[in-house]
Amino acid sequence: MRELFAARVRIPAGDERIMKERLQNVIRRRALLGDGAMGTQLMLAGLEQGNCGEEWNLTHPERVLGIQRAYVEAGSECILTNTFGGSRIMLNRHGNADRVVEINRAGVAIARQAFGGRAGYVIGDIGPFGGLMEPYGDFTEVQVRQAFEEQAGALVDAGADAILIETQTSLEELTLGIEAARQAGAACIIGSMAYDVTLDGATFRTMMGIDPERAAHCMQEHGADIVALNCGTAMDMERARQAVVRYKAVTDLPVMAQPNAGQPKLVDMKVIYDETPQQMVMGVTPILEAGVSILGACCGSSPDHIRAFRIAMDQFFQGNGTRYENQAM
Ligand SMILES: [Zn+2]
Repeated sequence: MRELFAARVRIPAGDERIMKERLQNVIRRRALLGDGAMGTQLMLAGLEQGNCGEEWNLTHPERVLGIQRAYVEAGSECILTNTFGGSRIMLNRHGNADRVVEINRAGVAIARQAFGGRAGYVIGDIGPFGGLMEPYGDFTEVQVRQAFEEQAGALVDAGADAILIETQTSLEELTLGIEAARQAGAACIIGSMAYDVTLDGATFRTMMGIDPERAAHCMQEHGADIVALNCGTAMDMERARQAVVRYKAVTDLPVMAQPNAGQPKLVDMKVIYDETPQQMVMGVTPILEAGVSILGACCGSSPDHIRAFRIAMDQFFQGNGTRYENQAM
């Protein structure tokens, strides 16, 4: 046994990636459960608003691991690394620009550890660089490209199974992220947009005016393997379902959805999200029927939300006679 274990732990990340079926292929047979929020869970674990959550991969790895392990125990099959703000530009705001590789590498290692030897996909998370590019802002395209390439490279080298470019609102930044993931040799690339429901409630588009159809075309054209949506404003499970339908009308690529647990509210100077697992889970069957391939949740969601999703997903696939096989990936 001991030898077997030793042999297993010696397998380098690269070989593991070759042996493992790619995420975009697995989800063509059955939908997978993603995870829930990281940011709001870090706050619950003691992170102060405005501090660097990604730094915790180095200073409080056990707390990050605790959150991700809770998601795995709730049934998540895909875990996002705690690296949303892990680009040089974002980390620089916290004096951590010299720790880009270290923080991203630790993020992948912690997420992998959360699976505790179980099969599962570690999705290397890249959020927005947090500013505007010229001519609207101070950052050049080259700076943003380099920051994404550096982060994507660190995540892929550390063994991430996929790269997620998330909470995107402009096609320019989305494209730079996708290209950086390609450059890094990511085995799977996911582009994810944050939509806002329009004031009249008629439709939704990103802050920069991009609708799902344009986003899907852009992602497909630049080589993404999965089109996604996450976060946003007033994008509940029903709106997320509508986005899935609109994506699927214009692309054959699989779709991932991670909506927020309701709308943020300010209570006692704290931002809270109050959609309960019981409320949110009502939207699971409709979104699975719409053909979503990876379902998770964004801000405000917790392991309790993911556990409720797990039960609903298992019931859905059992009821539908079985695209679902509960076996190792
Ligand atoms: Zn969110």
